[in-house]
Amino acid sequence: MAAKIIDGKAVAAKVKEEVKAACTKLKEERGLIPKLVVIQVGDMGPSTIYVRNKKKACEQVGIESEIWHLPDTITQDELLDKIEKCNQDDSIHGVLVQLPLPAHLDETACTNAISPDKDVDGFHPVNVGRMLAGQETFIPCTPAGIMRLLDEYEVPLDGASCVVIGRSNIVGKPMAVQLLERNATVTVCHSHTRDLPSVTSQADILVSAVGKAHFVTPEFVKPGAVVIDVAMNRDENGKLCGDVEFEKVSEIASAITPVPGGVGPMTVAQLMSNCLLAARRSFQL
Ligand code: NAP
Repeated sequence: MAAKIIDGKAVAAKVKEEVKAACTKLKEERGLIPKLVVIQVGDMGPSTIYVRNKKKACEQVGIESEIWHLPDTITQDELLDKIEKCNQDDSIHGVLVQLPLPAHLDETACTNAISPDKDVDGFHPVNVGRMLAGQETFIPCTPAGIMRLLDEYEVPLDGASCVVIGRSNIVGKPMAVQLLERNATVTVCHSHTRDLPSVTSQADILVSAVGKAHFVTPEFVKPGAVVIDVAMNRDENGKLCGDVEFEKVSEIASAITPVPGGVGPMTVAQLMSNCLLAARRSFQL
C-alpha cells in the first residue's frame, strides 16, 4: 500500500491565500498594513535563503517586510538596541531574529528581548507559558503548520497515540504540547530514549525532528501510521532530505510528508498567519 502524500506546498498556498484575503480586507476597510521586521546577523548557514523565503511570502500575502541585515561584528548591546527599536515602533507588528546567531551573541537574551506582543516566532517565554497554559498566543510556526496539515488531511487526533522524536524548544516541545492540547496521548523521544523503534512503532502519528538523514527506517513505523518528517538534511549527494527513508516508509505508512514540499512550506505560511495575528491585535481587532 502506497502512503498518501501530504502536500505541504498546496496547504501552505491555501494558508497564504487566507492571510492575503485578510490583509486585503484590512487594507481596504481600515487602511492598515501588517509589517514584519526580520533581523539577520551575518550569513549563518542557510539563513539568507530562509530570510529571502520569508520576504517573498510577505510580498505574496500583502505584509510589508524589512530585512535588517546586520554585520556579524555587531555587539550584543547593539543587537539588543535594534530589537528595542522594533519594540518601540508602532508601525512594526512582528519581529523575529533569524537563528542561529554567531557564537558571540546570546540567542536566549535576544529572544527574551522581543516584545511578547510582536514575537511572531512564538519563542518568548511569556508566549511559551501561555501556550503551555492553553491560552491564546503565537504558536511556533513549525508545529502550528504541522497541526494545520493534520487537520487538512483529517487525521484523527483525539485519543491518538503520537510520538515526537526531538525535544527542541522550536519544534519537539511545542509539537508535543499542541498534540496534547488536542487530546492525543503524546510521547516525546530524544537521544537518551532506550530502544527508540519499540517506542516509535506504537505511534498512530509519528513526528520526526532529529536532523539525521535515513534515521527513520520502516522498523520505526507502525503499519498505517501517519508520518510527519520535519527535518531538513543533506544526503550523501548533497540532496535535500528529511529524517525518514521516504520510499521504504511510504510502503507501510498511511500518509507521509515529503521533503521538500511537506512541513517546510507550512512553516513560512504559518509565520504569515502569526504576523497577521500580531497586526490585528495591535490594531485591537
Ligand atoms: P535540534 O535542536 O538539533 O534537536 C534535535 C533533537 O533530536 C534533539 O532533541 C535530540 O535529542 C534528538 N536526537 C538527536 N539524535 C537522536 C537520536 N539518535 N535518537 C533520538 N533522538 C535524537 O533540532 P531542531 O531545531 O528541533 O530541528 C530538527 C530538524 O528539523 C532539523 O533537521 C532542522 O533543520 C529541521 N527543522 C525544519 C523546519 C521546517 O520548517 N521544516 C523548522 C525547524 C527545524 P537531545 O535533546 O537528547 O539532544
